[in-house]
Amino acid sequence: MDMDKIFNRNFLIFGALLVIAAAITSYSLIQGERQMSAGDNLIFHTHEIILEAEQLASHIEGLVSGQRAYIMTGDESFQKEYDKRKADISQALARLTELTQNNPAQQSRLDEMRKHYVNFSQALDERANSVLQTQNREILRDVTLINQLKENILRINNDVMEEEYGLLNRRFDEVNKQKSKYFKSLLVGVVFGSIILLILNAFLLRAQHKRSYAEKSLRGTEERLMLALEGTQDGIYDWDITNDKIFYSKQFFHMLGMNKEAYTGRVEDVKELIHPDDQERVFNYVDQYINGELSEYVQEFRMKHASGRWIWVQSSAKGIFNDEGKAIRLVGAHSDITASVKAQEKLEVEKEEAEEANRAKSDFLAHMSHEIRTPLTAISGIAEILQKKQDNLNDKQIQLVKTLNSSTSSLKELINDILDFSKIENGEIEFDDHNFNLNEVFEETISMMSLKASEKGISFIFDYKPVKDKEFYGDSKRIRQILINLIGNAIKFTDEGGVTIMADYEDRDGVDFLRIDVADTGIGIASENFDMVFERFKQADSSVSRKYGGTGLGLPISKNLARLMGGDIFVSSQVGKGSTFSVLLPAKITSENTDTQNEPRLDTQKINERIRSHLNQEDKILVVEDYEGNIVVLSYILDDIGIEYDVANNGEEALELWKTKHYDIILMDVQMPKMDGFTATKKIRENEQEKNLDRTPIIGMTAHALVGDKDKCIKAGMDSYLPKPLVEADIKKEILKYLRQKKKAA
Ligand code: ADP
Repeated sequence: MDMDKIFNRNFLIFGALLVIAAAITSYSLIQGERQMSAGDNLIFHTHEIILEAEQLASHIEGLVSGQRAYIMTGDESFQKEYDKRKADISQALARLTELTQNNPAQQSRLDEMRKHYVNFSQALDERANSVLQTQNREILRDVTLINQLKENILRINNDVMEEEYGLLNRRFDEVNKQKSKYFKSLLVGVVFGSIILLILNAFLLRAQHKRSYAEKSLRGTEERLMLALEGTQDGIYDWDITNDKIFYSKQFFHMLGMNKEAYTGRVEDVKELIHPDDQERVFNYVDQYINGELSEYVQEFRMKHASGRWIWVQSSAKGIFNDEGKAIRLVGAHSDITASVKAQEKLEVEKEEAEEANRAKSDFLAHMSHEIRTPLTAISGIAEILQKKQDNLNDKQIQLVKTLNSSTSSLKELINDILDFSKIENGEIEFDDHNFNLNEVFEETISMMSLKASEKGISFIFDYKPVKDKEFYGDSKRIRQILINLIGNAIKFTDEGGVTIMADYEDRDGVDFLRIDVADTGIGIASENFDMVFERFKQADSSVSRKYGGTGLGLPISKNLARLMGGDIFVSSQVGKGSTFSVLLPAKITSENTDTQNEPRLDTQKINERIRSHLNQEDKILVVEDYEGNIVVLSYILDDIGIEYDVANNGEEALELWKTKHYDIILMDVQMPKMDGFTATKKIRENEQEKNLDRTPIIGMTAHALVGDKDKCIKAGMDSYLPKPLVEADIKKEILKYLRQKKKAA
């Protein structure tokens, strides 16, 4: 509650008390006045009775002396006087009877007096008659009877007066009492009223004191505020929204390079100073804030400086809202943030440049890896061929071929890792999700890794009973890659004991996850290195890399892949005791099915047999490839199957050959001189349509294996796609697929 409200409330209380005191005092004064005047009336009334009784007494005396004078003198005027006195006495008695009608004691006295008066006047009349008849004036001397009767009347009259005097005294007492009561209540009223007035006065004085103190401190605050306004670099504004009146401080204009004093005007006055491109945004923001749609007010925009340049301003404000949630006043400040915006812009540019440089580096890395991989594919292909033809080699040569093979496969792994990593960094990883049986992935992994473990003389257990024969939706190749990496590390870093892998489903907050724990009894990892081992090119211990080799790319790639699939990888470990890497992958099942993926994995021997069972003498393949090394490898694979083939070195040659001969399958490289694989494919498809020919299956082969390659191949009209480096089994499976289709169609 503010000061004014408290003041008004107390003032009202005092007012009410004063009115009550005045009312009580007035009421008791009026009452007292009434009672006193009633007392006065009664006194007057008693006086009247006494006066009447006194007159009655004098009339009685006058009556006696009047009669005596008449008898003595015979003067008629005395007779008249006598008669008048009689009439006056009757009148006085009647008047007294009337005045004392409320007093029974006086009434009975008057009755008695009347009786005595009747006797008295009779006695007088009789005496007058006997004097007049006898002429004996001596009779007048005998006044005993008359006096006795007169005394009776006067005695009763005296009693009447006594009674009235007594009444008069009591009434005087009462009136005096009333008077003192009246003065007392007057005094109480005056004292009470004065006390209230005194308190009111004290209260007013205190309120005035407080007000003047508040005004004084307000003046102090205002002074401070004015000094702050003068001192700050920020421009202040105070907008009375209801009346559209806005105060701009001096600095508001100084910031814009204008030499203007503070003034109160309208918002419109400065609208033109806001950059035209920002105006709509700025005023929309203001509207939103005023309507209570924003919790705070901070916005940035450009304003015109007197020098003609634009400066960046940050406007922050606070609103005062009415009961309906609408701002009625907005007080805020403008700060010149041009320097920090410029710095931010510079930073953005630098960041952009750094990112660009990083992208360029990644592109370079990807490009280099690709360029290295193309000849490497040929080298490894040839090394594999040599390995298979060991019969003609001597021991030394066998050893050389073995070394050649293991070196090329490590190099291939490294190049694949670098490629994967640049794909992850560039967001170019694409998952080939499909339904597959978990058994396949696990068995394949076991067949690859158990050999390595037994070579090292450590145990290898892979328990996937809980998920046996379970369908799983995801990219089986990428899941296999993660497993091979984790299990490869486990075997690499374990010299005693062994590696145990457990697969099961786990419920996490209602979501089903496939969890695979890869536990080993190897060297372990110190807990402070848990995060580090997942960083690229980082190894837990430099001595480790010297002893065990490696690049430090496997774990970051695996973790990134798992995360991109919606899962994650965690580690728990104890130095010297071993480590457990846990992979979590969301268990999604869809009905989507792809033929090739559900194809059981067969070894090359079995595939060769199957292909041969579908093969006809006249079946022919067209190999379109410009790189000699790949031609060597592909020709070896095709020779292995025993299928006829032609080689074209570019798209143009391929198109020419296709026009002259019939091919059952075309293996089409993408990047080639003269005409690339996409164009050649498009032209073949156009020709087929024009001449209503059967569709020749075309299998694209690309070395980039980046996002969109598969789509591009399919879009160009190819039927399927194989990433390089080519895997013998994959090529053979694709060939088998199309030979089967041909046989079915026939
Ligand atoms: P690389 O194995 O090629 O060095 P990784 O990214 O796969 O790269 O692993 C990074 C580092 O993590 C390894 O160098 C090693 O120090 C540590 N590490 C990974 N797996 C294990 C493990 N099972 N036991 C002990 N250390 C491990």
